[in-house]
Amino acid sequence: MPRHTLLIDADDTLWENNIFFEKTIDDFISSLEHLGYTREYIRYILNETERRNIRQHGYGVRCFGRSLEDTYLKLAGNAARREVVKEIEQMVHLLERTPPQILDGVPETLAYLAKHHRLILVTKGEAAEQAAKVERSGLQSYFDAIEIVAEKGRDAYERLIGSFKIVKSYGWMVGNSPKSDINPALQSGLNAVFIPHPNTWHMEHAEIESGAGRLLIINTFRELRAHF
Ligand SMILES: [Mg+2]
Repeated sequence: MPRHTLLIDADDTLWENNIFFEKTIDDFISSLEHLGYTREYIRYILNETERRNIRQHGYGVRCFGRSLEDTYLKLAGNAARREVVKEIEQMVHLLERTPPQILDGVPETLAYLAKHHRLILVTKGEAAEQAAKVERSGLQSYFDAIEIVAEKGRDAYERLIGSFKIVKSYGWMVGNSPKSDINPALQSGLNAVFIPHPNTWHMEHAEIESGAGRLLIINTFRELRAHF
């Protein structure tokens, strides 16, 4: 088999990520119920706040914490209390310290793939935060390079193709997000492997669009072994 270059997403592809954010959001909403709003309304305001803050400050747990706080301050108005803000900070702190939970079959599959192909981890977010997650995962030795980008758009993939001199027909992006992993990679001419995760973040949802490259859809990370 020819040697391929596999660009591999991290959050919700190599390890659980969004379930921990969702758990924090659940706790956050519960702690705001005394304000008298429905859970759905609190969530709606949080989503709007996140969208705005991400545009301005990028992805990451700190921006997420800011969104929780902004949401609380907006909903509580004059009734906002210092203790609740402290409580929110505690929740974010706990989230930040959650140990990585590697998805089933990932280490052994990476060990196999690394013997035959060039592996590059491609994750978006805050550089220090994502680098710390990679380090704590213990998976970095399987990768030739770790790339942390602010946003995974078509231009980011074109940059990676250029800097790693990837031959497009032998280049693949592997991930759980149609919006960040699959569509822009296909548009840049790479092939893609979509591994849906049942708890993918709502902001990563999108219809899969076809592109120049090939698209594989598999159910688990382990199944990569059957294709590479
Ligand atoms: Mg992901």
